Amino acid sequence: MELSRRDFLKTSGAAMGGIFMLGALNPDIAHAVTHKFLPLKKKIGEKTTICPYDASGCGFIVATENGRVVNIEGDPDHPINRGGGCAKGASMRQLSANNPWRLSKVLYRPPGGLNWEEKDWDWALTEIARRIKDTRDANFTELDSKGNLVNRTEAIANLGGSALDNEECYLLSKLTRALGVVYLEHHARI
Ligand code: SF4
Repeated sequence: MELSRRDFLKTSGAAMGGIFMLGALNPDIAHAVTHKFLPLKKKIGEKTTICPYDASGCGFIVATENGRVVNIEGDPDHPINRGGGCAKGASMRQLSANNPWRLSKVLYRPPGGLNWEEKDWDWALTEIARRIKDTRDANFTELDSKGNLVNRTEAIANLGGSALDNEECYLLSKLTRALGVVYLEHHARI
């Protein structure tokens, strides 16, 4: 049977209207129907993943072709986001290994320097540890002005991000409190 453009628009409009009505009555059935007749997945090497940006834990599908990420979209089967994604999650492809703008090396610009220098990770981690230790030791307070034992440093702050999971937050709070850091925050609270 041949469909004219007008017939096609009428039929598909009626179908979409039915799905929206169904969605208003029962979102679970609407989701199943939409998924069956309007498949969102692309038929190339796909793996499911969790959005790395925040603890909502939305599910996404990553599609690869010849070892390169070619598409990332919301997973309609995921119970949290059901195929949706906020602007941040929807731009996740920027994180993919084949994004030419993604930094893959340590870049360091010394104080007063105008140019970035390439460094290796051993140098960077050692330097970070040394500067934290030096800053903490130079600014450590054992007793406050009233003589109370406080063992703290106010020269270092730690700001966590929602990409951190529970275990990482736990380890960071243990590490920073052991150093005497009192300014310990998380961006979700700011
Ligand atoms: S950043 Fe957006 S898409 Fe990612 S988990 Fe959070 S709400 Fe979901």
